[in-house]
Amino acid sequence: MSVTKRSCLRCGTCCRKGGPGLHGEDAGLIEQGVFSSKDIVCFRKGELAYNQAKGRLEPLSCELLKLQGKKGTWECLFYDPGSKGCRIYAGRPLECRTLMCWDTRPLEKIMTDDDRLQRRDLVPQNSGLAALMADHEAHCALERVARLVGTNQDVMEERDRRAKIIDICLYDLHFREAFREKTGVADAALYCYFGRPLFRAVRGYDPWFESEDFLRYFVK
Ligand code: SF4
Repeated sequence: MSVTKRSCLRCGTCCRKGGPGLHGEDAGLIEQGVFSSKDIVCFRKGELAYNQAKGRLEPLSCELLKLQGKKGTWECLFYDPGSKGCRIYAGRPLECRTLMCWDTRPLEKIMTDDDRLQRRDLVPQNSGLAALMADHEAHCALERVARLVGTNQDVMEERDRRAKIIDICLYDLHFREAFREKTGVADAALYCYFGRPLFRAVRGYDPWFESEDFLRYFVK
């Protein structure tokens, strides 16, 4: 006899698959101190993400803030495997409150780009940090790398194209290092302010980004 699921069985599957994307109303949870910038990762515009509806990887049309995963995994950092529970249950974000794995229609309704929480919602627009974030984006936009990946060999030699991409990814790392040294901001918060390191974020654009030939510039 098959049983139709109508309530959460606390199996933990959704929390182990990844933390929720954040929406406008989740900003209130940050103000209340439920979580902070060091718990958030930004997937920047242009980063490849899996589109559930289309079943394929696509560049993000706008940035996406999510709760971070635990080291080396996608499992939400607030998931407690021992109790199979959420450590911030009373203050869990909108997507977690909306998700019913037996009926995803309510979740699909709120998954619009218009309601996404953005970095500009977290950082005062006239602040030094906002200026640095804009500067970083101007130099290290995913779209810059994507354009170079798609550049025809008739326009630019393969060797020059790859050298330019490595330059941009190294700039990103040096930028983060300088920011960390000057401000003392926790490493984890850099993922919120500047996204994932560019050399990681470009994975998926070209098999070369997973090769030893590319990674040796960034992983010591
Ligand atoms: S915030 Fe809580 S409910 Fe949401 S994915 Fe993380 S552990 Fe699960």
